[in-house]
Amino acid sequence: MQPDYLITGHFRLTPDQKKALTRLNLVTLRDLLFYLPSRYAHQGEIRSIVDLRAGEKAAIVGRVEKAGPKKAYRRQIPMAEAVIEDDTGKVKAVWFHQAYLAKKLVPGTLVQLSGSVNSRHGELYFSNPDISPAPTYSFSKQTIFANPNQPDNLVAIYPETRGLSSGWFYYHIQKLLSLGVHKHLTDPLPDALLKRYHLPALDTALVWIHAPQKLPDTQSARKRFAFEEVLLIQLDRRQQRVVYKAGRAPAITSSKANLKELLASFPFPLTRAQERAIKQIAGDLAETEPMARLLEGDVGSGKTAVAAAAAHLTVKTGLEVAYMVPTEILARQHFESFIQNFAHLNINIGLITGSECRKFPSKINRLEHTHISRTQLLKWVASGDIPIVIGTHTLIQKAVIFKKLGLAIIDEQHRFGVMQRQKILKEKSTAADTVPHLLSMTATPIPRTLALTIFGDLDLSVLDELPPGRQTIKTAIVSPDKREEAYDQIRQELAAGRQAYVICPRIDEPDPDKASALQTKSAVSESRRLQTYVFPTYRVGLVHSKLAPMAKAQVMADFSSGQINVLVATSVVEVGVNVPNATAIVIEGAQAFGLAQLHQLRGRVFRSHHQAYCYLFSDTTNTTSLRRLKALTEAKTGFELAEMDLSLRGGGSLTGVKQWGISDIGMEAIKNIKMVEAARLEAQNLLDQDPNLKTHPLLKERLANRPAIHFE
Ligand code: ADP
Ligand code: MG
Repeated sequence: MQPDYLITGHFRLTPDQKKALTRLNLVTLRDLLFYLPSRYAHQGEIRSIVDLRAGEKAAIVGRVEKAGPKKAYRRQIPMAEAVIEDDTGKVKAVWFHQAYLAKKLVPGTLVQLSGSVNSRHGELYFSNPDISPAPTYSFSKQTIFANPNQPDNLVAIYPETRGLSSGWFYYHIQKLLSLGVHKHLTDPLPDALLKRYHLPALDTALVWIHAPQKLPDTQSARKRFAFEEVLLIQLDRRQQRVVYKAGRAPAITSSKANLKELLASFPFPLTRAQERAIKQIAGDLAETEPMARLLEGDVGSGKTAVAAAAAHLTVKTGLEVAYMVPTEILARQHFESFIQNFAHLNINIGLITGSECRKFPSKINRLEHTHISRTQLLKWVASGDIPIVIGTHTLIQKAVIFKKLGLAIIDEQHRFGVMQRQKILKEKSTAADTVPHLLSMTATPIPRTLALTIFGDLDLSVLDELPPGRQTIKTAIVSPDKREEAYDQIRQELAAGRQAYVICPRIDEPDPDKASALQTKSAVSESRRLQTYVFPTYRVGLVHSKLAPMAKAQVMADFSSGQINVLVATSVVEVGVNVPNATAIVIEGAQAFGLAQLHQLRGRVFRSHHQAYCYLFSDTTNTTSLRRLKALTEAKTGFELAEMDLSLRGGGSLTGVKQWGISDIGMEAIKNIKMVEAARLEAQNLLDQDPNLKTHPLLKERLANRPAIHFE
């Protein structure tokens, strides 16, 4: 049997099983071999019920006698309860906050429970044990690689899906191994690498991960797969870098005096981190090798000022700047802040979004900007008369051509796809022989190991310092009974002249039929409620993505100028919006947002020396959700939060490409700085010796078939 044979051609499958395989994208025998277990069960752990003792961890296999939802004791916590029996006795099991499990525990079925055994009033019970369907085979006999002298007999447990149980995977994968299918696979990792890092070869690693004799073997195997994944990511990034760096960019020089004058032109003294970043950028721009730099800084760290400095240097050299941002609101905001920065320099600035084009200054009033037609804007951009253009992704449309684009700035770069990022670097200049320098910016807090991996193609500047006088945001999780207290505190802020945001997860009311499923607040109705009942003496505004562009701009302008006191919004304000006078933010249904997103949202009120407050409204009782929200109340910086986030992940399935296009096993590796650095070094060596990987066709093939990494 060969690894590329079809699974359907070699195993008898029910329609449900076929559907499940399709869903998991498992087509060939090879795919099946790469379906990795999520954990292992110890055969030795399994006990008879009569032998259970309170205070121990144990596993049993038994039949479900009965099961149902219940409310626990006095506290009325929803829970599931079941009674399990084997030949020696019966034992109760309870699952707090997981009443839904009751439905899954069908009386009469065989299950395996593992977890801690407790006792209450002399009666033993399992609390929150893991449940898995009982294996239908006897482990030690069917584990073909089992060694009776090894006490460690481990059984692989696989992530399950409707139609395919862990036992199904176990049985079929063991079968493939016993037929030697894995021996026909060629290892993409060069021998020298395996030796240097003491990694098992591919066929050995597959045996160790599916049919291990001892736990350390499973760890070696995982290490191997993790290394391979990180190496592939690094190779991919490095290759992109080599291609980009092979182009030629116009040199943008700045004299020392000129740079000094620029730094002095800001209305505030720059932080040391901002100065350092600007100097690094000026150094890159002076070369004809295109800059490929990522400016990473927490929300509110002042990235816009750094971008403005880079734009300034570029324009002074007679070249153009394209500044791409993810939302119309942000484009408008940056347009206005650039006008402030550049007004004294007599420079034309353009704005292009899906809905309108504007130009500063207006012919009639030199202090104002004005609407112009798209055709007119494109003409002036092509002739170099508007050297700075700020816009949304409309900037990358074919029609937008610059005279000689010197610098492309991408703000909140994680919001753009790889293709969009590449388009702004290509075919944007009538001077076809050059590429622009690239400055990418992100506030997504990324731990160093992750940055080295995902952004291996970019040089890194970090703003690790906030402008002086910022106080940490006081963040609290607010349960429904504490809402009024939170509103009281916000009214105090409003009375002191400050402003507030209220973020809702949705725009409109949900479909009435589904209202029970999703009881999250909608921005439209919440704004009415807040205006009428909660903040009647203040002006409440509303902004969301379905609003007409002009209306959106008007609301944002009114909020900026302080005429609107409370702005109810969807996550359209998530990135970049800068209204320093806003000091309180309420996030409705906070558990529905990702951690990074919540941090971005609370960054909206982290833009001045005033004390700021973030209220995470949530009615969740789910422990994982609460733990995540708690991380947010504890982490002061995005970086701390990212580290916590990374450590809250893990476990789960090893296969399946999840967040960011990296599998869980890859994520595990990314927590290991030594491994990341080793992979980075090896990727560099491999490509230095053989830029097209001609001598490593398998690596090349794997590279071509990798899912794209996306970072949102
Ligand atoms: P982000 O890094 O999130 O894009 P911004 O560039 O929007 O942050 O800056 C956040 C706020 O901090 C803005 O109001 C900006 O004017 C202000 N700011 C930036 N740099 C400084 C500084 N060095 N000193 C004081 N305020 C600053
Ligand atoms: Mg910003």
